[in-house]
Amino acid sequence: MSFASLASIPAPEPGTGPWPANLARTEGKLTLAGHALSDLAVRGTPVYLVDENDMTSRARAWVDAIGDGDVYYAGKSFLSPLLARWMVEEGLCIDTASEGELRTALAGGVPGEKIGLHGNSKSDALLELALENNVGRIVVDSPGEVEQLADIASRLGRVAPCFVRVTTGVHAGGHEFIATAHEDQKFGLSLATGAARDVVTAIANHPNLSFLGLHSHIGSQILDPEGFAAAASAVIAFAGELTRNGIAVPEVDLGGGYGIQYTGEDPQPVSEKQMLAGIRSALEAACAAEGIDVPRLSIEPGRSISGPSGMTLYTVGATKDVMTDDGVRRYVSVDGGMSDNIRPALYGADYTALVDRVTDAEGVPTRVVGMHCESGDIVIKDVSLPGDVSRGDLLLVAATGAYGRSMASNYNMIKRPGVLAVSDRGTTWLVRPETWEDVLGLFPEL
Ligand SMILES: *Cc1c(COP(=O)(O)O)cnc(C)c1O
Repeated sequence: MSFASLASIPAPEPGTGPWPANLARTEGKLTLAGHALSDLAVRGTPVYLVDENDMTSRARAWVDAIGDGDVYYAGKSFLSPLLARWMVEEGLCIDTASEGELRTALAGGVPGEKIGLHGNSKSDALLELALENNVGRIVVDSPGEVEQLADIASRLGRVAPCFVRVTTGVHAGGHEFIATAHEDQKFGLSLATGAARDVVTAIANHPNLSFLGLHSHIGSQILDPEGFAAAASAVIAFAGELTRNGIAVPEVDLGGGYGIQYTGEDPQPVSEKQMLAGIRSALEAACAAEGIDVPRLSIEPGRSISGPSGMTLYTVGATKDVMTDDGVRRYVSVDGGMSDNIRPALYGADYTALVDRVTDAEGVPTRVVGMHCESGDIVIKDVSLPGDVSRGDLLLVAATGAYGRSMASNYNMIKRPGVLAVSDRGTTWLVRPETWEDVLGLFPEL
């Protein structure tokens, strides 16, 4: 049994790796855009913090990189009315995938024309809401949705703007992508079986439906352009076939999934410019091969905008040293956990963290855990934290801005944390913290 075999990696310092641009260590204190975290914590922890300028710069970088094209911010990664408004101010559109996301974007004053609607199983009510608000694109995902949407559009006297989501057989994540002929998943319509062709043809032939383009989404946490390039080639081969059959394809949307760094060990993704340059050259080469005009390009980044800008600030509670087969592991509990970040439990996702207090104590192998009644309630499986971390310390976890608050639950009857946007101009709640009235108010009075 050796102590050293439980080697752990400390968090990278602010300004590097997964931390947002305006996090710094100033006079021994962690600060975000000039605000001491210890001052922000006075409003209660856990709290999600957003580096507002970091987030809007990331949004703008995608808009600059795509040039003549559209960037749809994937609202499922994290959405609030004010955030939706910021995205539109930066020149983005908003991608929604449910009635709640659509209503949130509308509540932010986003014009319907700048909203896209996804979903593999959209209700009649959702499609009606979308049409009544002149949503710019509805991404059709199943054969039955054609008739469903056509009926609703006819009844409302509208023409529904349709994209068709296709499955190219390309699946990507990290540096790897695989291309298969088989599709065994719930999203999209197969190019291989002809399902996509039948749906596009039905849309093109219906007076209450208009066919605007093809959509493809190949995965998540993708770090370089190769997978997108392969998907673009498959989509364009199909666009060539449609064009020869008299159906023009004005636009192609290659979806989201652009990767980020969660820890200091994660490889850095290529820049927005390099990513789009790689995608564009594949798109243009495929169009030249098919002899068709290059369609307008759109993309749907989510986590690459909201992820690295967001962090979670916790207060440390109980700590204990646990003997493992490999040595002693320190368990540090925080006042949140799987209710505010389900990704470690759901995907085995890795994170990293810094302690606010400066200390000379040596780093020890640490597991950061939550306060929920599950042994799988892990915040960070393995990180090196100072050996003297104790109750009352503030702990900041990196890159929780995407799929943190948006996947949060009230498990164990906790109040879900608020999301505080912080900039040099001040602080604003994007989502206010829940109160006991919010939690208990759902119960009928006895
Ligand atoms: C999830 C999703 C996105 C965003 O994915 P990120 O990994 O957050 O960039 C975009 N488009 C579609 C269709 C999605 O399902």
